[in-house]
Amino acid sequence: MAAQSSVGLRRRLRIVAVEELKSEAVEGADAARAALPVDPVVVYADLSEHVSRSSNKIRGQVNAVRFIEHFGSHADGDDLVLLMITEDIYIDGFNYCFGLAYGRCAVVSVHRLRSSDRQLYISRVRKEVVHEVGHLLGLRHCRDPSCVMYFSNSIEDTDRKGEELCQRCALTLQKSVMR
Ligand SMILES: [Zn+2]
Ligand SMILES: [Zn+2]
Repeated sequence: MAAQSSVGLRRRLRIVAVEELKSEAVEGADAARAALPVDPVVVYADLSEHVSRSSNKIRGQVNAVRFIEHFGSHADGDDLVLLMITEDIYIDGFNYCFGLAYGRCAVVSVHRLRSSDRQLYISRVRKEVVHEVGHLLGLRHCRDPSCVMYFSNSIEDTDRKGEELCQRCALTLQKSVMR
């Protein structure tokens, strides 16, 4: 069975983005494909209803867990799903977050990744997408500040890290895929 390529071990990943994040979604798919054993497909959708139903009007932010739960109840199949939105998101106990993975569904918000430097902005998007998809594949946070699975507490953390897994995380993933 030597002809069997690693493609067979790749998990299907559906990236669902709002229309205005077209290039961001394509970049994210590209980064995820390069760094992780996933086979991404990008689709565009109107997520406004999910956004408004999971918004916290007082905070002016979207509750990331509620957003994923709300979308998840409308999702079908067993693909991994990554949602991409423009609204600021948060989880309880934090002022904000860049993304969140919950079950087989994750969300990335570009709200706090924006920069007048387009290249910097896109590199942040790529890192946050790989990070959340890494969680969907079972990876946890890594202590290596240059690893994509390092927890970004601020945008400086994101800018410091790369868009790839460190050797240790790559090995962890390899073991879990082969199990
Ligand atoms: Zn994380
Ligand atoms: Zn790592």
